[in-house]
Amino acid sequence: MKRVDDSLIIKCPRCGEECFKTQKKCLECGLIFERLNHVTNRAGKIAVVRREKENILKVTKWPQDVKKSKALLLCGFLGMVGAHNFYLGRYLKGFFSLIVTLVACVCIMLENVIDYSAFYSNFFFLPTGIMFFMWWIDFILIGINKYKIPVALDYLYPETPKKKNLKNKINNDNIITEKSEIQNKIEENNVINIQNIKNGDKKQ
Ligand SMILES: [Zn+2]
Repeated sequence: MKRVDDSLIIKCPRCGEECFKTQKKCLECGLIFERLNHVTNRAGKIAVVRREKENILKVTKWPQDVKKSKALLLCGFLGMVGAHNFYLGRYLKGFFSLIVTLVACVCIMLENVIDYSAFYSNFFFLPTGIMFFMWWIDFILIGINKYKIPVALDYLYPETPKKKNLKNKINNDNIITEKSEIQNKIEENNVINIQNIKNGDKKQ
């Protein structure tokens, strides 16, 4: 039996079922492929924080609101504290790396106090080893576009009115301070003018 040409097949990003590219939705889990054009990492992060698992989709295709280059840089330079995980919304992985690195730093600072040949030092070396392993695996996965990024449909998580109000408020505050600066100048000028007039009066 002849195997179907691979170029005609895509893997469903939700359930992994092999589907034909001509299919509009996954027959296994019902995901409508067209919807993938309307997902963002911003919405995905909110869904992760709220633990709304049913809305989260993990994709390897880069969503429009995050950049691969930024993720690679963060991973390369700050990967040991999980910076790329926090950037892309993989918070649990991020916290693991952050805590392990902090503990490792404290252990290194206490070098003279801790006996590294003792059994308990495994509690230091093992997590640190796992963290380093995860760090470099992540770097490779991001590089070859295999890192799984949580996304959700953007309209499910509209920008909160609170955040919008805050943005407006900041803008208004700037306008107000600009206004008051102008008013101050006008007032200063008035004072100077009045003084000039008074001085003029004296000279006359
Ligand atoms: Zn599916």
